[in-house]
Amino acid sequence: GVPEMPVRPIAERRVSRRIQVGPVAVGGGAPVSVQSMTTTRTSDIGATLQQIAELTASGCQIVRVACPTQDDADALATIARKSQIPVIADIHFQPKYVFAAIEAGCAAVRVNPGNIKQFDDKVKEIARAAKDHGTPIRIGVNAGSLDRRLLQKYGKATPEALVESALWEASLFEEHGFSDIKISVKHNDPVVMVNAYRLLAAQSDYPLHLGVTEAGPAFQGTIKSAVAFGALLSEGIGDTIRVSLSAPPVEEVKVGLQILESLNLKPRRLEIVSCPSCGRAQVDVYKLADEVTAGLEGMEVPLRVAVMGCVVNGPGEAREADLGVASGNGKGQIFVKGEVIKTVPESKIVETLIEEAMKIAEQMEQDGVAA
Ligand code: SF4
Repeated sequence: GVPEMPVRPIAERRVSRRIQVGPVAVGGGAPVSVQSMTTTRTSDIGATLQQIAELTASGCQIVRVACPTQDDADALATIARKSQIPVIADIHFQPKYVFAAIEAGCAAVRVNPGNIKQFDDKVKEIARAAKDHGTPIRIGVNAGSLDRRLLQKYGKATPEALVESALWEASLFEEHGFSDIKISVKHNDPVVMVNAYRLLAAQSDYPLHLGVTEAGPAFQGTIKSAVAFGALLSEGIGDTIRVSLSAPPVEEVKVGLQILESLNLKPRRLEIVSCPSCGRAQVDVYKLADEVTAGLEGMEVPLRVAVMGCVVNGPGEAREADLGVASGNGKGQIFVKGEVIKTVPESKIVETLIEEAMKIAEQMEQDGVAA
């Protein structure tokens, strides 16, 4: 027979040092965290805090806010104080906002060394201010705004160019005794991006923030990010992730969490195991799966619900799940923990599944099983 393989974690995590982004540890074996970025004007404190609250509710662990103007910089202190999750200020072009963000008590500051003028000369002061306040810095290299010197040297934003830029800037900070750093080397091409992170991972032990930049609209961006993060995380590379989508930030968080859950890097919450349907299906599986998903949205317990179109794989999958249905002949056999508990007419499948799911969830909560 085939020897049984234990189910192992997808990979040994790369050994990285740890930084603290507010209460969230990044690197050094800490769970991979999910972050996103607000789309509001940061100076609109109310709207920004509102969006941060929505992001927090969706499971976002760290939030980044843009800081292109003085009004935005002035808003940072209030936002950092009132946000439920740590706030990172995202600074391009203007070093003065780096200092403002540190003073404002942001949990970290992202700098883009490629577009901060005379960045190298400012590093000493930035390092001192960040050290005084215990503020970590993300060196966020981006293909679209790569340091001119490296663009000239390599001709384009190759993995080597991205990594050289990041490590050069990191070395300047290190020279000033500052190593509270995480790094990103983003590119819109997942293949370049994956190679850049591999190279970076091999050359340093900084914690890494993964991102495919300008990944595109929701569908394309989701696939690109899932493929790229999947490749890297399955090699143990990556300490925090941000999915970039041309879509509301809450969607980015949902995708990010799902990627981590898929790789078992985060406990799975609600999981719908539904079949793709085929010529044997005796029920509209798409509709049933959608209705069950909608009915159970927001459940926080790790529940596996099988929705199967016929009796071929139906009962088998339904039995493996906490709860499931196998359809056939206008009826649904409802399974709970491997036992058929009842058979209901097709019109009652959804409500029965939801009812049973609620009962199991209640029991799980009482038993203290939560995601
Ligand atoms: Fe087809 Fe049945 Fe498998 Fe669904 S469970 S894909 S309907 S064989």
